[in-house]
Amino acid sequence: MANANVRVRFCPSPTGNPHVGLVRTALFNWAFARHHGGTLVFRIEDTDAARDSEESYQQLLDAMRWLGLDWDEGPEVGGPHAPYRQSQRMDLYKDVAKKLLEAGHAYYCYCTTEELDERRDAARAAGRPSGYDGTCRELGDEQKAEYERQGREPIVRFRMPDEPITFTDLVRGEMTFTPENVPDYGIVRANGAPLYTLVNPVDDALMEITHVLRGEDLLSSTPRQIALYRALAEIGVGNGTTPDFGHLPYVMGEGNKKLSKRDPQSSLNLYRERGFLREGLLNYLSLLGWSLSADQDLFTMDEMVAAFDVKDVNANPARFDLKKCEAINADHIRRLDPKAFIDACTPWLRAPHANWAEEKFDQAAWEAIAPHAQTRLTVLSDITANVDFLFLDEPVEDEASWAKAMKEGSDALLRTARAKLAEADWNADALKAAVVAAGEEHGLKLGKAQAPVRVAVTGRTVGLPLFESLEILGRERTLARVDATLAKLGA
Ligand code: GLU
Ligand code: ZN
Repeated sequence: MANANVRVRFCPSPTGNPHVGLVRTALFNWAFARHHGGTLVFRIEDTDAARDSEESYQQLLDAMRWLGLDWDEGPEVGGPHAPYRQSQRMDLYKDVAKKLLEAGHAYYCYCTTEELDERRDAARAAGRPSGYDGTCRELGDEQKAEYERQGREPIVRFRMPDEPITFTDLVRGEMTFTPENVPDYGIVRANGAPLYTLVNPVDDALMEITHVLRGEDLLSSTPRQIALYRALAEIGVGNGTTPDFGHLPYVMGEGNKKLSKRDPQSSLNLYRERGFLREGLLNYLSLLGWSLSADQDLFTMDEMVAAFDVKDVNANPARFDLKKCEAINADHIRRLDPKAFIDACTPWLRAPHANWAEEKFDQAAWEAIAPHAQTRLTVLSDITANVDFLFLDEPVEDEASWAKAMKEGSDALLRTARAKLAEADWNADALKAAVVAAGEEHGLKLGKAQAPVRVAVTGRTVGLPLFESLEILGRERTLARVDATLAKLGA
């Protein structure tokens, strides 16, 4: 059922390169918003100056644009809760921290790191919960004054309620966290810098977020945040409600380990460079925890949006399977309208990808071969090597292919094939008949007979359908390449 009140957010920190886990989170939020006709807020959590970078920020925007995951509020588009970069909202967070302190929901904690470590180790040794022990919860004025005299600079700590926190996760069902497991936590650094633990829920409250869909790794911070929302409601920050939470399953990589940001397989840029289609990549990523139906892996984003419900997300870890990702992408390439395929390949037919001089490119030859490539490509970047024989003066020299195809007797076979090709009508069927006939004369099946011809003409043992390739390359160039190969074999 549509619900235009739905407000979800995608709120990455601009560190490093965008990765597939991040894209999956963005996609699920986007699909949920679009399904309901609601709002996707794009917020940049850039409060950690040491780790955040402008370059990452630009890459995030660029990635979202490329993926077609459009947002309704956020950078570049603005919105009623602007600014959407947390680095520009610092005063607001400081103000909220002050109000939390005044209302007693937070307190100054003067403990030094050494003291905290010592008490934590002692608690561990005694088998007690090892989180913050509440030492500074009820400090008297005199004690505070003493700490100040010692030059201690306090952090601000949020006071967790003493009762359990229960919520119903949209993916995982009811979850309960007991107070021993959720100790009081820092929300402002000693230098006055607000922490993620504060600014993330504060912005969700101010931006009136209704559903928080994010990775399972953040599950343990949810009870803390729920307590903070309740406190914010009491002090009148936001609209007084707590969002619903849905924690998306982990994505596992090789060896059943969590796919890490540093895993090369997880870099979005890599998929773009290899020529994945956005629809193919998004289709595959949507399967990491969700499915359209048991028997349909292949679908469009419109179909996903129509069907998406976070309640259908599976709580079990999802396995990232590159082969499957490629297969789905290949399916999407096949589904492209022929003209769209031709256009989509264009970047890979130019510098820096193309290994031929620009003026050697022949649009008519490309359009003639394109349908044969469209049914065979896994990723668009493979197009370059598949068609370079058309645009290079001489085919590439691939030693492995040469070694594989050029056996004893290949020169004799090629001589016969050359003679028959020279007499054939120049169309794929006749060219095939010529090579079949040449093979028969030498006791070779078509597969064996065509290998040296293919290597002579394209430079490689594998490629697009050979006889269509020869037809498009033309009689003169084909025969010249066979001649050159014969000369080389004779030498
Ligand atoms: N900036 C946080 C992150 O990238 C967002 C967490 C959340 O979705 O609440 O991990
Ligand atoms: Zn303390």
